[in-house]
Amino acid sequence: MAKGASKLSKGGGNAGKKDLYAGLNTEGSAANQENADKIVQGARDVLSDFGVDDAFRSVRYGKYSGDAGMNAVGDLSISNEYIAKNKENQRSDVVSDTYYGTGAHEAGHLVVSELTRRYLMPNASNLEKASARKYDKTEKEVLKEAKRRFGSNPVISKYGSTKPGEKVAEAISDVYGNKGRANPYSKVIVEVLKDIQRGAFRPTITVTKREMGI
Ligand SMILES: [Zn+2]
Repeated sequence: MAKGASKLSKGGGNAGKKDLYAGLNTEGSAANQENADKIVQGARDVLSDFGVDDAFRSVRYGKYSGDAGMNAVGDLSISNEYIAKNKENQRSDVVSDTYYGTGAHEAGHLVVSELTRRYLMPNASNLEKASARKYDKTEKEVLKEAKRRFGSNPVISKYGSTKPGEKVAEAISDVYGNKGRANPYSKVIVEVLKDIQRGAFRPTITVTKREMGI
């Protein structure tokens, strides 16, 4: 669409910016393109670092209940209300409350489902993989291993304490969004995920028939 063309011509100091939306479908239009770019950049950086950039399929702008969301097939939803005016650094329940940190968090969910699909459950059915995702199976194994390495399982953020999947996504947001200031435990969690990517950690993921609803 024409919108993409205007984005490309905008320039800006960000190296590789012209490739920011390469290969992505766009639905709707961004209430603020600069803020949207920061979210997409955060997502891109995390996904390429884990070698799953090709799983990122589209960016959708619209009215959503949350700030942003990522589904299992790589569609990133961005709330236009969230990006219309600057809303960075207003929340105390998340670890990196910037647009970049939000993109990194959402990408974190996709990283986990892609690592699961590619390396941990390559032969599983779609129903098994969906159930594993629903019950945060991989995240539970990642946190168990991170706790073993770190010696404890400290809080990363209030939002990260709502469920294992959010804790892992917050750890990613912390490491990529806060960089040197990240919680040392977040770094361990990211390291465990990197070990899945490089083949050094291969937890067995199982789902019961009851969890699959069959
Ligand atoms: Zn999340």
